[in-house]
Amino acid sequence: MNIITNHMPTQELQRIDAAHHMHPFTAGHALAEKGARIVKAAKGVWLTDTDGEQILDAMAGLWCVNIGYGRDELADAAARQMRELPYYNTFFQTSHVPVIALASRLAELTPDGLDHVFFAGSGSEANDTNIRMVRHYWALKGQPEKRIIISRKNAYHGSSVGSGSLGGMVGMHAQGGLPIPDIHHINQPDWWSEGGEMDREEFGLARARELEQAIEELGPENVAAFIGEPVQGAGGVIVPPESYWPEIQRICDHYGILLIADEVICGFGRTGNWFGSQTMGIRPHIMTIAKGLSSGYQPIGGSVVCDEVADVIASGEFNHGYTYSGHPVACAVAMENLRILEEEKVVEHVRDVAAPYLAQKWAELEEHPMVGEARIVGMMGSLALTPHKASRAAFKAEKGTVGYICRDRCFANNLVMRHVGDRMVISPPLILTPAEIDILIERVWKSLDEGMAEVKAEGLWESA
Ligand SMILES: *Cc1c(COP(=O)(O)O)cnc(C)c1O
Repeated sequence: MNIITNHMPTQELQRIDAAHHMHPFTAGHALAEKGARIVKAAKGVWLTDTDGEQILDAMAGLWCVNIGYGRDELADAAARQMRELPYYNTFFQTSHVPVIALASRLAELTPDGLDHVFFAGSGSEANDTNIRMVRHYWALKGQPEKRIIISRKNAYHGSSVGSGSLGGMVGMHAQGGLPIPDIHHINQPDWWSEGGEMDREEFGLARARELEQAIEELGPENVAAFIGEPVQGAGGVIVPPESYWPEIQRICDHYGILLIADEVICGFGRTGNWFGSQTMGIRPHIMTIAKGLSSGYQPIGGSVVCDEVADVIASGEFNHGYTYSGHPVACAVAMENLRILEEEKVVEHVRDVAAPYLAQKWAELEEHPMVGEARIVGMMGSLALTPHKASRAAFKAEKGTVGYICRDRCFANNLVMRHVGDRMVISPPLILTPAEIDILIERVWKSLDEGMAEVKAEGLWESA
């Protein structure tokens, strides 16, 4: 047997990784040639790789490490729980203390009326639950034909067959026979790329009204629910115009269709409130949660369900669940994470300290010659890159080419910032300090400067 340790040379680890590990959302052969960056430890907002480099993680892992890395309290909570009760299921009329504690705590933290939690192991699983739950709800109410769920193009709701279908990612739908039937996608509220000559707020209203048109076309008697992320994350941190969500809410209310807020990224402080629904003024029937629920220390997700839907579902057996629904160790770790968020006033830190300072520095990035628009809500931000600001032109090169170049410059400058097409996005840990924000912004400027130089040198500085 091979004994693999932190002390192996990076190249050797990379070789074994390439030989045996299939990476998600990755072109395997291309990565094998380059070698993966191998992270071996992390503390606060800093990662350490096997070459000893210190990297500022402006993505909080994958949008999830809200309280930052290296909190012993969570490790201790996991160890305690593993010793006491490492696993028990919640299927056959049994329960356990960690799941009871977490469900009741979530009922307190979430907006009024959202008092019931169905647990899952991830955001994808939770959205699969939602698909079945909303359809089953309408069936129990005697309207089984209400099956269609309306979502948005370029939405991200997970990568399982169900949640990937709910999402609106073209590249995902192209592989493996997605979407499943009865999911309908309307356009997203991305003013920068799709707003044309329209005013931002006017465009927000127009995009929201596509929901009304879709309901009318499909027939309100056939529509079960609408799902949306308060702020689209993986789609490129698309901050909707202010006019958007109130109109969506009005339409859902008017037609009596269920509203699902996918809070997997926006939840647990990211937007400066406990939930993105509060920031955006949304009153959902169901919230999808995951990521920040445990700050990524354990895999856990869930659906927080309103009283009316939960009550109808409870009238019979819901033939659904996961072996790890309400896993005791994951629940104990999530509880400890919530305790830290609350006692250390992390959400207040975002609202009063980190987000205002980051917003000010982020806005200054619009002065960079390649940045057309710098948007930010709380601790999630995006930069739309363009060769021509006034016309909001895209680059002539294949979409994502320029973003990829800039992402590589960030990597080289020990900053984890992602690109989504030709947008650069951040979603750092919420505990980021003003001093760390200064380092972050300095590295962003440097990476953009270098990226732009490379784009020009390669003859890519041209509008589409
Ligand atoms: C990440 C994400 C998911 C999927 O969560 P997984 O835990 O990766 O399955 C769902 N919705 C949103 C908004 C996400 O960002």
